[in-house]
Amino acid sequence: MPEINHINLKNAEGLVYCCLRNKLVKLDEEQEQTFCKMCKMYAGPAGGRGVECVWEDMRDVGNPHVVTDPHEEFKMNQMRQVGPNFLSTLIVFG
Ligand code: SF4
Repeated sequence: MPEINHINLKNAEGLVYCCLRNKLVKLDEEQEQTFCKMCKMYAGPAGGRGVECVWEDMRDVGNPHVVTDPHEEFKMNQMRQVGPNFLSTLIVFG
């Protein structure tokens, strides 16, 4: 899986999608100090407009992947892809 740089820009409410916590978070001092500071995915402050997070992404997205709608990004990340290996496992053990 390719490592993708996700450039998560804060929306009007100051929210971004956090992969580590798998939810929308307010990108404030608490989030940055408690989570981003120690997160292995952290890759920068997106020019002061959000947060950059690098992680392996199964989806067919560009690199970098610029996120302007964290709500949509959250939804897209809840759809788990089912690949052929998973299906053949079901056939063998099902
Ligand atoms: S750097 Fe880590 S903790 Fe911070 S928003 Fe990205 S995934 Fe979440």
